[in-house]
Amino acid sequence: MTVTTRFAPSPTGSLHVGNIRTALHNWLLAKQASGRFLLRIDDTDLERSREEHVASIKADLEWLGLHWDGEERQSARFDLYEAEFQKLVTAGRVYRCYETAQELELKRKVLLGRGLPPIYDRAALALTDADHAAKAAAGEQPHWRFLLDREAPIEWNDGIRGAQHFDPAKMSDPVVRRADGSWLYLLPSVIDDVAMGITDVLRGEDHVSNTATQVQMFRALGAEPPRFAHEALLTGTEGKLSKRLGSLGVAALREEGIEPEALIALLARLGTSDPVDPALGVEELAASFTLAHFGRAPARFDEAELHRVNAGIVHRLPFARVAHLLPEGMDAGAWAAIRPNLSHIGEAAEWWQVVTGPIAAPALEGEDKVYLAAAAEALAGGAADWQALTGALKESTGRKGKALFLPLRLALTGMEHGPDMAALLGFIGRDEALARLRSAAA
Ligand code: GLU
Repeated sequence: MTVTTRFAPSPTGSLHVGNIRTALHNWLLAKQASGRFLLRIDDTDLERSREEHVASIKADLEWLGLHWDGEERQSARFDLYEAEFQKLVTAGRVYRCYETAQELELKRKVLLGRGLPPIYDRAALALTDADHAAKAAAGEQPHWRFLLDREAPIEWNDGIRGAQHFDPAKMSDPVVRRADGSWLYLLPSVIDDVAMGITDVLRGEDHVSNTATQVQMFRALGAEPPRFAHEALLTGTEGKLSKRLGSLGVAALREEGIEPEALIALLARLGTSDPVDPALGVEELAASFTLAHFGRAPARFDEAELHRVNAGIVHRLPFARVAHLLPEGMDAGAWAAIRPNLSHIGEAAEWWQVVTGPIAAPALEGEDKVYLAAAAEALAGGAADWQALTGALKESTGRKGKALFLPLRLALTGMEHGPDMAALLGFIGRDEALARLRSAAA
């Protein structure tokens, strides 16, 4: 069977780092197996779902290069849910309940008070046809619960957590449909996973207990459950799920100059025992993606690390990938010379400004001014490039190392550090370089 994964965001907000990671891992899992990666928009909650969020989720996935091979929308599939639901009604695997939230809360408190687990007591199962008719006559609409099979233990071999066991006798029958007919997440997701041919469900460990009930729903619908894997959640550097992390998304990261390749290089391996390596492209990341390398401990997302990875990525980006982002006149040679000094592509413009000028006036004095006057003379007198210029100055002044190079760099760029001067001098050009040396010597 073709490996088929899905990313199933609810369009109630933009993607944040945590769900970008889930999307990426599902994408890598499919890519590794030459399988299919599907996008499912979980918009059963019509009140909270927004078209603008659907659009931003798609735009973010595209920016990341996580292309999907097919797309479904839950709001367009209500007929399918209804049909499958009716099968469960017929099979007696869903049943009608009428308890209000307050009544359920009271039942819970009583059980907890008696030191018992707060499991729904299935009181509604005892209602007769006459009871239901009376409720209907009184205008009461039922909500629906899925009837767990309490005989067999629930088990699956989790791709990350290993063997999982749940005792259905200790679980409440989950509500799958509200009294107004609307759907809760659990059942539509299973119906879709079956209909879409999903072979692998990879999601956050906050879904583990959902999986326990969903495993039975797959079987109740006559399907084998897919493979499941639940990854530990992301935390911020302080170890908690920070507020920032919950809202940190593509828009903010782009603003900070983070490249999609950096986010992918980091998130692909965050939470695994594999090192983060900016040199690896998506092909290599997919080939080496291994669920068994994921740990159970929360994965720490460190923004400083993301910026370091970003620098590593920028140092490797080919000119063609960045050309449209560079200032006018900056060519492939200039990009190659300047990129090792960048943490973000945007900084290229600052260096190009150093090339084209004007530059900040360097603070130089005394002997250095005399030295720079000699440098101007050497350049005017025919020292054609950096090599020739510094060679001649070394001879004539006896300077070496920092004393030889730093005043030149300061005079020519206004900065103490920066790209390779040999390359930079070429871009600055002889006339401009001469002007800068003379002005620093004056
Ligand atoms: N819409 C659900 C969520 O965002 C999907 C969970 C799943 O992958 O099944 O949590």
